[in-house]
Amino acid sequence: MSSDTTVAATERLIAPHGGVLVDRRGERPDGVEGLEQIQLTSRELSDLDMLASGALSPLEGFMGRADYESVVEEMHLQSGLPWALPVCLAVDGPPSGDRVALVREDGTPVAVLEVEESYPYDREREAERCFRTTDDAHPGVARLYAQRPVYLAGRVTVFERAESEFQELARDPAETRRIFAERGWKRVVGFQTRNPIHRAHEYLTKVALETVDGLLVHPLVGDTKSDDVPAAVRVECYRTLLEGYYPDDRVLLSAFPAAMRYAGPREAIWHAICRKNYGCSHFIVGRDHAGVGDYYGTYDAQLIFDEFAPHELDVEPMFFEHTFWCTVCGSMASTKSCPHGTDDRVFLSGTKVREMLGAGDVPPGEFTRAEVAKVLIDAYRGGGAA
Ligand SMILES: [Zn+2]
Repeated sequence: MSSDTTVAATERLIAPHGGVLVDRRGERPDGVEGLEQIQLTSRELSDLDMLASGALSPLEGFMGRADYESVVEEMHLQSGLPWALPVCLAVDGPPSGDRVALVREDGTPVAVLEVEESYPYDREREAERCFRTTDDAHPGVARLYAQRPVYLAGRVTVFERAESEFQELARDPAETRRIFAERGWKRVVGFQTRNPIHRAHEYLTKVALETVDGLLVHPLVGDTKSDDVPAAVRVECYRTLLEGYYPDDRVLLSAFPAAMRYAGPREAIWHAICRKNYGCSHFIVGRDHAGVGDYYGTYDAQLIFDEFAPHELDVEPMFFEHTFWCTVCGSMASTKSCPHGTDDRVFLSGTKVREMLGAGDVPPGEFTRAEVAKVLIDAYRGGGAA
């Protein structure tokens, strides 16, 4: 396909959030060495990389006070565009110059920030509004409480991109859009996951795919809790499953470089908006999306979409129930589509599954594909997923 045709086809896709895909990648400016340095946390670095690629369009940098206040209180940017979570850079105090260098933990400069303003913020209020709890046992709240006391706002230019552990899966929004366009897809559903995909999630991605042109399997490979299955093991599970059970020309596997915040409902909105930037017209929202512990109600991450006007987000959420194999129906089903009782369902708790895999036992084929179970068993035995 010629590049002109690709551009035309890209225009058939959903528009980026705010209309334009932001690109904050740039050349390394002169004089970076002389600038005051600010070392970023892993979460801030992953936000920075998403700012560079346009995954956080229309944001061009870390949020100023007006946007921050408006997002925390109203879930909208000051421009009126929906936005669910702060994207902020926490520092010790106002810098002296009008530009600062943003550096990795090892001191490598990766970006320059043009200082617009710095402002204090109220951690407890941000926790209460964004995480719906001020309990510091919540991993997102704990991270927020550990932050430095002042937010520094400004446009960024990123000249050193984050290195992905999965370079071949690292695709920026411009690239997923190009691939969707080349494949002739217009309606694309995005699937967020941070777990291996068993039959239940295979089923709901396929139910969603039946109604659109293509599926983006978009596992989060940024920071997660230490007890989540390691990304390398998950990626091998996804590859194995997709090779065996999905048509090549209808699915794209790519990495989502975000760090988990575990903000539940607000993070579901944030995830949907990010995927819109990657070119997804639809986004799957299961029960307790991006939740942790019992901080959120089962359906909170679905109900929050009702707080926006119809079509305000543009990206269309697709809501799903838990699904299972029903032995009477002889198929995957949910309580929405199957009238039979719990005794007829193949159900295994997370704990039970981990026990089985740890002991080298393959769970029933109605629960997980044997090929996926094998990857997990090997990882458990090698200590990779302990
Ligand atoms: Zn049934």
